[in-house]
Amino acid sequence: MKKLISLFSLIVILVGCSSTETPEQVKEELPQIVTGAFPIAWLSSQLAGDCAVVNDLTPAGGDVHDLELTPAQTAAIIDADLIISVSGFQISFDDAVANTTADVLDLLPLIDPILGETHSHNHSGETDHDHEGETDHEKSSGEESLDPHFWLDPNRAITAANLIKEVINTLSDDCATETSDNYQSLVQNLTQIDVDYRDELSQCQSKTMVVSHEAFGYLAKAYDLEQIAVAGLDPESEPSAARISEIIAIAKEKKVSAVFTEDNANPAVADILAKELKVGVLVLNPIELKPASLDYLTEMQQNLLNLSQGLGCR
Ligand SMILES: [Zn+2]
Repeated sequence: MKKLISLFSLIVILVGCSSTETPEQVKEELPQIVTGAFPIAWLSSQLAGDCAVVNDLTPAGGDVHDLELTPAQTAAIIDADLIISVSGFQISFDDAVANTTADVLDLLPLIDPILGETHSHNHSGETDHDHEGETDHEKSSGEESLDPHFWLDPNRAITAANLIKEVINTLSDDCATETSDNYQSLVQNLTQIDVDYRDELSQCQSKTMVVSHEAFGYLAKAYDLEQIAVAGLDPESEPSAARISEIIAIAKEKKVSAVFTEDNANPAVADILAKELKVGVLVLNPIELKPASLDYLTEMQQNLLNLSQGLGCR
């Protein structure tokens, strides 16, 4: 008995010693993953569990495409063990990533990317970007470029999850063990979302989504819908009066039954369109900003409810 007690006290002492580290210190010792896009951070956290720290630089408001990094966030990128990016989504993030020696997984080229539609509408005369020294990115605005918003297609989210799992596995032995079960349940959840979308959107009165910015190309492609976007791939641009008239004409011709907006969009534009088209306004979240739910699945389900209502499905 005495032996047992002393063994017990030894354990208490040992446990006591290791717990002198603060939770912050424990976290700092884990591999550090940095992302700038909420859905990517969400996928990474689901996979990594407790084996790594996912540092999500996504803001809760504002224009996520036009993310402005604080010095602390730039430092986080430099010090990261792994950066998971979606190139072309955020110029400032891409620029910071280009200056690090950390391992980078750029998901965009690997998820079978599609091109954004070429619109002339996001040029209303004024320069949209105020980034100094921008050349390539600025020129590409409004021209044909790859669409970064792949996470709105759950099957591409599964492809991304697989790629993310593979790189997280390399971070530590703990991670290699941790991701396996996490991946299974993640794929199950994403597959269920796909099934729900397929079921719900199979019979709708309208197939045309009028949306705030061109974020729903992958969703449209996956579920045989069509998007008419007020703004281009980067929502920063304000629509011109000519573009608004053009959208009204197309939407009337397509007999659209709702206008979809997002929290970050100018509500006046959606209101004008809805009034002209005599339809309601519903939210369709591009899931770019950190949502209150902090849950991609919840946001996807909410989008499906609103899509179903707006498009008159079932
Ligand atoms: Zn976007």
